Amino acid sequence: MALSYSQLRRYRTCPRQYEFSNVKKIPWGISEGESFGSSAHNALKKWGEIELGRREKGVGRRKQNDVREDQLVLFAGEAKPDIPSELTEEKLVALWHEAFIVDTYATRLEADFARKRGEAMMRQYYRWWSLAPHKVLAIEKSFTEEIAGLSFSGRLDRVEETEAGIVILDYKTSQPCTQDEADADLQLSLYALAARHLFERPCIALTLLFLSDEGVLERTTTRSASQLKDAETQIRLIRERLEAKDFRPTPSLPACKRCPYRGICDVAAV
Ligand code: SF4
Repeated sequence: MALSYSQLRRYRTCPRQYEFSNVKKIPWGISEGESFGSSAHNALKKWGEIELGRREKGVGRRKQNDVREDQLVLFAGEAKPDIPSELTEEKLVALWHEAFIVDTYATRLEADFARKRGEAMMRQYYRWWSLAPHKVLAIEKSFTEEIAGLSFSGRLDRVEETEAGIVILDYKTSQPCTQDEADADLQLSLYALAARHLFERPCIALTLLFLSDEGVLERTTTRSASQLKDAETQIRLIRERLEAKDFRPTPSLPACKRCPYRGICDVAAV
């Protein structure tokens, strides 16, 4: 059985929502929030690819193994203006405007508002990015991983290399979660499981990067061997339920409010 993380998340949110989407294949339109998130991911993908391209070509390398290549260098807390022309704040803003998906908004005014908000968000991202050196290892890295009898496919938004190991970063444009939620996040556990086979070096941290027009919030967590075992157990239970075609609904106000099938579901809580 093959599954993407978004399909798994749908099943965990409500098995009937999964059934509507993945078994009955009832289509639904992309929401404005999803569209905004896709625009941000696309802009940052392009940005990361420029970073990666420069690194692969060795452009701007000052010396061998210098992890600060192609990046703002900080000397005693003072920023040296050493950022290459491909990686300026205005370049990132331009990438945002190129990536912005306009069609999903109800009115032109709402689209303009979202576009402006996204521009401010990219400026905040740039500030975050400028604060420390980043050694990008991969951007939008696809993977398929066999976990507890399920074949998972997914994509890592951004992977950075540090001296101690790799860090996986996942962009979010939703409301920030709590640290406890990040520590228990199943998606991050799946990423940690996949990272064991994708990279030669250990995954030392997983970071959710919550992006907004007010700033970038990091939620950094790790996964122990026992947490990864727990994640595998969770996956096994879900696989058993899927195999048994257990699509009993689990209505709740937060889930049903955001569910694209609430109009056709007879047990919707809204
Ligand atoms: S409306 Fe609620 S109960 Fe119905 S499928 Fe959606 S989330 Fe599940």
